[in-house]
Amino acid sequence: MPRDNFTKDTILRLAQRAGYTCSICESLTVGPSEEKENSVNITGVAAHISGASEGRGSRRYRSDMTTEERKSISNGIWLCETHADLIDGDEVTYTEKRLHEIKDRHETKVQYKHAGVNIDKGLFTEIEICNLATFTSSTRIKFQQNNLIIGQGSPGKTILCEFLASLKNPSLLKRWEDNKNRGNSFFSIKYFRTEELTYNIRIDSKRKITYDLNGVGTPVLIPSSTIFHLNKCFRDFVIENELDYKIKKSFMEYFGLREIEYLNFIADVATKKKYIIEDFEYDTEEDYLSVKLKDRTNYRSFQSLSSGEKDRVILEMTLQLAIFYSKFNSTITIIDQEAFPTMDSAGYCNLIKVVVENCFDFQFIVATFFEKNELPYKLLNTIELTVVEGDTKVQQLTMHHK
Ligand SMILES: [Zn+2]
Repeated sequence: MPRDNFTKDTILRLAQRAGYTCSICESLTVGPSEEKENSVNITGVAAHISGASEGRGSRRYRSDMTTEERKSISNGIWLCETHADLIDGDEVTYTEKRLHEIKDRHETKVQYKHAGVNIDKGLFTEIEICNLATFTSSTRIKFQQNNLIIGQGSPGKTILCEFLASLKNPSLLKRWEDNKNRGNSFFSIKYFRTEELTYNIRIDSKRKITYDLNGVGTPVLIPSSTIFHLNKCFRDFVIENELDYKIKKSFMEYFGLREIEYLNFIADVATKKKYIIEDFEYDTEEDYLSVKLKDRTNYRSFQSLSSGEKDRVILEMTLQLAIFYSKFNSTITIIDQEAFPTMDSAGYCNLIKVVVENCFDFQFIVATFFEKNELPYKLLNTIELTVVEGDTKVQQLTMHHK
């Protein structure tokens, strides 16, 4: 029987779309050869999903396919030699459907990596919001590693932040229970790690909130992620707890840390590189924090700092906590400008600069109402929300960071 082989061009494109890595084990299948200065060694194989010819040894062969279909790129998958052998010896595990899923997932991963997005620990990639607050029609917004949501006077920013944060704190959804006049309101979040998951939060016309994961109902959503949400409540909480006098208590309660965890954390941060402040010293006995700011030469007590300076200390602590948690699982840090009303645009520019320059291993969302020309927005995925005649028109400007 003749074999319906792929053309050279199809083989090249399959390899390129897979980033020259095996679609199963992700090992590299291209590299330099020592033979000549311009020699290349390729160890990958463009394998047929449905067998190239009828007969013994050809797996997943389908007689209903045309020659063209069998030779087409959609019937190919890029694999290392070991996995090419494996799929050609096991059509029970590696069914046609399974191989298509493996291929799609791998190409999506390559696409994220190629765009400079780290998906190793999971990433919220897209949200869709419909019939909630100012979003009267369905609106999709794509997220990357670092995201900046801007829009003067647009209430949409806070709502986006709150829905994402509600995955860890469902009480944020309370106010949506009073949504009786509307039907079919939902908030959908796509999450990618080894595969794409879609979480849906639906609010029906009887104010009932339901959740589903990939279309299957769940009692509550618990994604494997850590979410730090710095919003207005955070600010109120800190003030309520008299942060000036009981810094330990405030931080422990807000970040859900036990005393020993808090003390370990503080001791750990003291020895690490600081990003927003220069340094700090903490007296565990007295619960006394002294801070050295970037532009000052001496240490000062936390109590003596201005509101804006205190904000920077809180941000530093949040960054350090997020860095710590991101070692273990997907971590997302959401900062709503409402949490830091005393911070000026220079403070925000500084924060964004720190985020961009340090390539943190967690996902960052900053919602601010500053004008875009005040911020180094070109360095981030910028989502601009603009209010037009009382309705929210969402304009999306996507820019790859770096
Ligand atoms: Zn492999």
